[in-house]
Amino acid sequence: MTANSLTSSGAEPVRLAVAVEAPLHSGLHGPLDYLSERPLPAGTLVRVPLGRRDVPGVVWTTAPGEDEGHALKAVSEVMDALPPLSARWCDLVKFTSTYYQRGLGEVAMAVLPREIRKLDNTGLASRIAKLRKAYDKPLPDAPAPVRPELTPDQAEALAKLAEANVPGAAPVVLLHGLTGSGKTEVYLRAAEAALAAGRQVLVLVPEINLTPQLEARFAERFGGGDAPRRIVSLHSGLTPVQRLKNWLAAHLGLADLVLGTRLAVFAPLPRLGLIVVDEEHDPSFKQQEGARYSARDLAVYRGKLEGSCVLLGSATPSLESWQRAEQGRYLKLTLANRVGGGVLPKVRLADMNLLPKVRGATTALAPALIAALGKRIERGEQSLVFLNRRGYAPVLHCTDCGWKSGCPHCSAWRVFHKGDRTLRCHHCGFTQPVPRACPDCGNLDIAPLGQGTEKLEEQLAAALPGARVARIDADTTKHKGALEASLSAVHAGEVDILVGTQMVTKGHDFRRITLVAAVNPDSALFSSDFRAPERLFSLLMQAAGRAGRDAAQADRSEMWVQTWHPTHPVYTALRQHDFNAFAASQLKEREIAGLPPYVHLALMRAEAKTPEAARDFLQAAADLAATLPGAGELLLYPPVPTTIARVAGVERMQMLIEGASRPQLQRVLGPWMAALPSLRSTHKGVWRWALDVDPLAI
Ligand SMILES: [Zn+2]
Ligand SMILES: [Zn+2]
Repeated sequence: MTANSLTSSGAEPVRLAVAVEAPLHSGLHGPLDYLSERPLPAGTLVRVPLGRRDVPGVVWTTAPGEDEGHALKAVSEVMDALPPLSARWCDLVKFTSTYYQRGLGEVAMAVLPREIRKLDNTGLASRIAKLRKAYDKPLPDAPAPVRPELTPDQAEALAKLAEANVPGAAPVVLLHGLTGSGKTEVYLRAAEAALAAGRQVLVLVPEINLTPQLEARFAERFGGGDAPRRIVSLHSGLTPVQRLKNWLAAHLGLADLVLGTRLAVFAPLPRLGLIVVDEEHDPSFKQQEGARYSARDLAVYRGKLEGSCVLLGSATPSLESWQRAEQGRYLKLTLANRVGGGVLPKVRLADMNLLPKVRGATTALAPALIAALGKRIERGEQSLVFLNRRGYAPVLHCTDCGWKSGCPHCSAWRVFHKGDRTLRCHHCGFTQPVPRACPDCGNLDIAPLGQGTEKLEEQLAAALPGARVARIDADTTKHKGALEASLSAVHAGEVDILVGTQMVTKGHDFRRITLVAAVNPDSALFSSDFRAPERLFSLLMQAAGRAGRDAAQADRSEMWVQTWHPTHPVYTALRQHDFNAFAASQLKEREIAGLPPYVHLALMRAEAKTPEAARDFLQAAADLAATLPGAGELLLYPPVPTTIARVAGVERMQMLIEGASRPQLQRVLGPWMAALPSLRSTHKGVWRWALDVDPLAI
């Protein structure tokens, strides 16, 4: 279709509001008005002129026909090959934009597949025609699935779910189930019921690495038999073309099941009947750029909009979801036993205070742990040892003058990587070869301090001669296929000890692992971030769940934790595998301290050339907020540097805003964000600012 020629058309042009992506900090947050020679339904994709460019947009509403005197530009192309996005989809985008304080058009365009921008209406029409043709072909024959018999826990949970999930109810359900208790089977059965009712199902997972195995399980269950279902995935690992194809299949109602990572919460699904959020506690559901949305929270909101049941699953639910379940706002279902009757591994705390004190003792491995690992090797069993720090050592230092391997661009140390003898900054990427001598005093004796996974691998190999040690972390899995290759070596039994960062603790189903060890988890206990204990507990519970997946080995499975604080409540609860007690004590602490979920937070971050410029801007922003209606109900904390204040030469400060309720907070945030660009002229040293509503990391 070509550009409209309004004059040649007989009918009166119609005025439309169109959501377009406006430049950041431009102050243009709402839709912009355009003229069209014919009425277009809301949700129609269009191209419109903006400045000197032609940009994609979504028709938002038919604006009131009031003429403000200035000439409106005409819509340049109507992309009506694509059926309009639904009113509920538009509502979800609108809510995201308002709640997370970003431009409407910015959100709308960010959640559409990028590939769509490249197409004109003809191109889009032919893609859609091709896709429909492909879906017309029957699926290859596959055997009907064999459904496993349900455990009593699963059967009870599903019965309660069916009772609650009646038409019109749209319940939010928290499925609290131990690792290995069969949560996936509950998802599958719930999906089966929704599919049988002719509805679509959306399944969200925190990490792209977890999609292939889940996709395989859904395909195995629903891809065969008499009525095979169409399953597509949506995540950043797909090519742009594949992503558009899958998105179209969802929007056109061709796909029955959509599996994806957080952005998939925006997949348009005309027959949506169930949303599953697996590992709902996982911080990866929170977007860290642009609109900093929580896909978990949006899933709950979307369920309400669409009248769909939302099923949140976790072994260690977020305290936010747990509190809601305790209050009766969510239905809580529990799977308290492992499938096949396997027990959870016994938790052993290795008290590091009892080891002889030597310099650099933080790098030690407890002799009892080494012995336990040795026993596993003798029995032909596998172990998993993890440490949340990659590289060889977190810092190099000079034993003479005290020089340390700082990053010149960040307030952080550069990590020593022994493999390629480099010093690498994990924040800005600045990399240099290791100096032969101390750059300050010329001393040749520069030594690593502390321990990373690379050193841990070396220590284990030295302590257990002949052991086959493999390492999985961001450094060893940079190349495509490397992770899969390492994992299959573990599955094939070619590895005795698997060393890694926390990426090895998630999701993988290792059958032969009977020992899991956390080498140095204490730092999280004393973090300035109040969520650190919650995250640590969840990480350790999840890691413990990796051991003894095979019921036959479960009773000799162990989880080891090396700690200098063996009596800390996090570890006490871990020993009992008692999430309920942990959650109760954490919630009590948060209530007393006035922390979420008892209050609601927003975090304003500013980036500037100097710390002073960032602080002055935040102070001025706070003064501005104080003049707004409702500000008296909020608490604004003083600006402070972020945990790592300087990254790549940019100074970063942040300021917390606290409200007793979400509406109280929201009442001020909107007008505040709209007013902030006025500070630009007096705060030229500030480069960027951004608001994070419900921040996960403080
Ligand atoms: Zn020196
Ligand atoms: Zn750096």
